Amino acid sequence: MKNLEIEEILYEIADILEIQGVEFKPGTYRKAARNIETLGEDIREFYKKGKLKDIPGVGEHIAKKIDEIIETGKLDYLEKLRKEIPRHLSELLQIQSLGPKKAKILYDKLKIDSLAKLEKALEQHKIQSLEGFGEKSEQDILERLKLMKKGQERMLLGLALPIAKELKSKLEKLKQAKKIVIAGSLRRKKETIGDVDILAVSAHADEIMDYFTSMDDVSKVLAKGPTKSSVLLNSNLQVDLRIVKEDEFGAALQYFTGNKDHSIKTRLLANKLGYKLSEYGLFKGKKRIAGKTEQEIYKKLKMQCPEPEIRENTGEIEAALENKLQKLIPYNSIKGDFHTHSNYSDGSSTMKEISDAALNIGYEYICIADHSKSSRIAHGLDETKLLKKLDEIKELNKSYKKFKILKGAEVDILKNGELDYSDDILKKLDIVLASVHSSFKMPEKEMTERISAALSNKQVDILAHPTSRMFGQRPEINIDLEKIFEVCKKNKIYPEINSTYTRMDLKDTNIRKALEHGLKFCIGTDAHNANQLENIEIGVSQARRGWCGKKDIVNTSSLKELGKFFRKIS
Ligand SMILES: [Zn+2]
Ligand SMILES: [Zn+2]
Repeated sequence: MKNLEIEEILYEIADILEIQGVEFKPGTYRKAARNIETLGEDIREFYKKGKLKDIPGVGEHIAKKIDEIIETGKLDYLEKLRKEIPRHLSELLQIQSLGPKKAKILYDKLKIDSLAKLEKALEQHKIQSLEGFGEKSEQDILERLKLMKKGQERMLLGLALPIAKELKSKLEKLKQAKKIVIAGSLRRKKETIGDVDILAVSAHADEIMDYFTSMDDVSKVLAKGPTKSSVLLNSNLQVDLRIVKEDEFGAALQYFTGNKDHSIKTRLLANKLGYKLSEYGLFKGKKRIAGKTEQEIYKKLKMQCPEPEIRENTGEIEAALENKLQKLIPYNSIKGDFHTHSNYSDGSSTMKEISDAALNIGYEYICIADHSKSSRIAHGLDETKLLKKLDEIKELNKSYKKFKILKGAEVDILKNGELDYSDDILKKLDIVLASVHSSFKMPEKEMTERISAALSNKQVDILAHPTSRMFGQRPEINIDLEKIFEVCKKNKIYPEINSTYTRMDLKDTNIRKALEHGLKFCIGTDAHNANQLENIEIGVSQARRGWCGKKDIVNTSSLKELGKFFRKIS
């Protein structure tokens, strides 16, 4: 998708204009960028139809610039703007808490125009004394700089997965390819990915390698050989392709799926049984006794075959040896989504578009949960608007037979622990999601009390994105999760597994902790566009990494069963 590239260019223009002190224009560019961000469709489709101006916030001028980017791959206007400011100054803006105004101060006062210089100044504590900064803000910038650097080394699962899937389907189209499987951390659905490992079986390895290393998307061939090649894609993702023999396929897949500790432990287990396990097979002496599939290898090791998502050596091997691994939630078992936003708040689809898309996927229900009034940036709904929305849902529901739109809201947990709507309003909803969208930096005790207070309101059903982390932008809020889970259990509240790829919140280890408290979860996409309902895959993979079975996830239940889980639904 070109969207990401275009929205980044528009944001950069906005930032540079703001540094230059230009008024209004930055806002216009940001608005357009934001709408492209939540478009959910490939912007090139709009371009082809000559309908770029149908995108909210895209007027004549911006549409022309998008034309230029799509046609030439670059934008003269941005090149010109970049020359007008110090070369690396715009680098600084990648740090979330550093807006254009602050970046300009850093440049004017300390001549900081690159991330390297910023890091140095932070280490020397030169920033806290600047006007408008202070010690806390210095600390904050440092933290975010670290987060950002970490984020750049690896790619988020949600970004890498579609790229890898597209690549896989391209390779699968080759008639020489017999089997193509993605291995490595991507197969384990780890939240960030270092590089992509693909295994293939083919009698014509050279032809596959020729194709692989000359694909359009390849920016650099790192290595090319008869059984292994590595390329760097334009997205900066490294992909390794290995051709293996059919008899060895399962062993190679087991070996390259990892993680490392899991692989080491399985090899040791094999040794104990008098075997040798390698990427070529399981051997007794020189004789291969298994290797074609992973299942036959694990069977010979006298254990269940753990699903890839849990191969992290965090207890799965011991459980598999005792035959105690439960079946993980299947990817196709979701019956509805509890967390979506329509154009009533900051989404870009109408309620009907979302509902039709949900019906199309085969869902039985969808909860449209727009933001509450305090979320101003997200165009939260005041009471009047919310009531109007509920009426519209009632009307819309008349047109569906076995499908239902659930009346929801994602209600802000205010700083004092109160909810953003009164109980009288909340009672009119089927499902109430509560979440933190402000004052992220409270100390642990206060934050835990704040959220616990909100969760003791009988109207709340789901704690949405419980830690409010955002990759590369914001760390987890400070909370005592164990306490929060206790409160959830006591008050019959479901923590959410949020599928937005920049959130993936709760994370896998926290899901396991919550499971120990006997909690069930709701997986929500937090879709801001009908197309984003597909992101549920990320949430399900996260649930699987957290060892959840089907019964642990509320939205594997049918519409009829929902009354068992939500007090306002009968
Ligand atoms: Zn939210
Ligand atoms: Zn949301």
